[in-house]
Amino acid sequence: MINASLTELRAALDTRKISSAELATLFLDRIERLQPALNAFITVDRERALDAARAADARIAAGTAGPLTGIPLAHKDVFCTQGLLTSCGSKMLSNFVSPYDAHVVSLLKAAGTVMLGKTNMDEFAMGSSNENSHYGPVRNPWDTGRIPGGSSGGSAAAVAARMVPMATGTDTGGSVRQPAALTGITGIKPTYGTVSRYGMVAYASSFDQAGAFGASAADCALLLGAMTGFDPRDSTSLERPAADYTQALQSGASATTPLAGLRIGVPEEFFADGLDDDVRTAVEAALAEYRKLGAQTVAVSLPNARLAIPAYYVLAPAEASSNLSRFDGVRYGHRADSYSDLDDLYRKSRSEGFGAEVQRRILIGTYVLSHGYYDAYYLQAQKLRRLIAEDFRRAFTQCDVIAGPTSPSTAWAIGAKSDDPVRMYLSDIYTIAVNLAGLPGLSHPCGFGNGHLPVGLQLIGDYFDEARLLATAHGYQQATDWHLRRPALAD
Ligand code: GLN
Repeated sequence: MINASLTELRAALDTRKISSAELATLFLDRIERLQPALNAFITVDRERALDAARAADARIAAGTAGPLTGIPLAHKDVFCTQGLLTSCGSKMLSNFVSPYDAHVVSLLKAAGTVMLGKTNMDEFAMGSSNENSHYGPVRNPWDTGRIPGGSSGGSAAAVAARMVPMATGTDTGGSVRQPAALTGITGIKPTYGTVSRYGMVAYASSFDQAGAFGASAADCALLLGAMTGFDPRDSTSLERPAADYTQALQSGASATTPLAGLRIGVPEEFFADGLDDDVRTAVEAALAEYRKLGAQTVAVSLPNARLAIPAYYVLAPAEASSNLSRFDGVRYGHRADSYSDLDDLYRKSRSEGFGAEVQRRILIGTYVLSHGYYDAYYLQAQKLRRLIAEDFRRAFTQCDVIAGPTSPSTAWAIGAKSDDPVRMYLSDIYTIAVNLAGLPGLSHPCGFGNGHLPVGLQLIGDYFDEARLLATAHGYQQATDWHLRRPALAD
């Protein structure tokens, strides 16, 4: 059961091979065993999980179960969960119990999913390695001396280690796709505006988007499908007809060439200097496999992609500096024990509550927004953002999806990039442009590098083309077994 797909779990629950309560217990026990080695969770709530599982069992018995009823999951600790700690990986929120559920959490609750706990993450979702958490680093199940990627590293590690069959994450600059790649699982971030941001602690609001982690594209299709939908409480939530991603997995093409007719754009800029050889080899082999499945690869160019990192690391900190001003030690969150006056209260509470990376971003953001520098940095970065989106628009006149590596390297050793923020930022080179443009992106496993470490292939789609991304990855996964490989963990 631990390795079962969501469809297999559904069948097992429906045929009463296992109850939801038994399933939850199975995964909770596994979490307990693996948590000391991986540190993937911040909160595990056995009692609440078992209550939800029993309620799901009642729904299954009554014949009112949906596709995800009774299936365990974990939420990244960036999502507010009523009555349960929502720390966002920060000391600042280490005492924050949310009075309400995020939209994503309420949708998945209504679908009958069973939340086992909240996963570890980089503080306020800032990071690429999960070393910035107040709760300590998350470890990669394929090699516990290495990082799992970030900032949704807890969710990715939990799914990769099968502590849970599916999990939510958020992706502001790659935080679903990159950890999915480094832990050998599938992750999708939809078009900006597809999933409501209500109740998701804000990092950079014009980039933040929730996404789904699963073993396969088929699993992600089920989870993402249950997360999407219009929400009037998020002013950037889009009102669109409901999409059935699972239905869309069935392509009309033949069994041997399921991807016939698909044009895959391969940007030369994604294969230039800076890409590790082992990643390049695995990604090129995957592109060859895609051709075998009937797809055609075409060269495309994203000339401004190299400007994505500088643009992002101006814009995201700018938004973050504004969003994080609400954590002032007065309304909620951490407050310093002693202070002399109001200014001192703010200063001490924020200095104690925020970690080094968060403070760095607040300083950068405040600087680039300040009078005198706004035109030089913020405004320039906004212009680059438009140019990058234009690059994609042009590329999609030549192809249906874009493919390349998700990350320039496999998972690195814990500590290897911690004291060099610029090196850390460069690891986001292939994912960030997608968020600047607001496009959907998916990462799926496509091999191993450096002997034993997973490599991910990124698929980028045009706006609202999540269904095509999932169907493309599904076609690949029907013909290959990288997504079925599991790390060897003592259990
Ligand atoms: N690594 C990027 C950052 O540190 C992206 C993080 C994210 O997507 N939440 O900002």
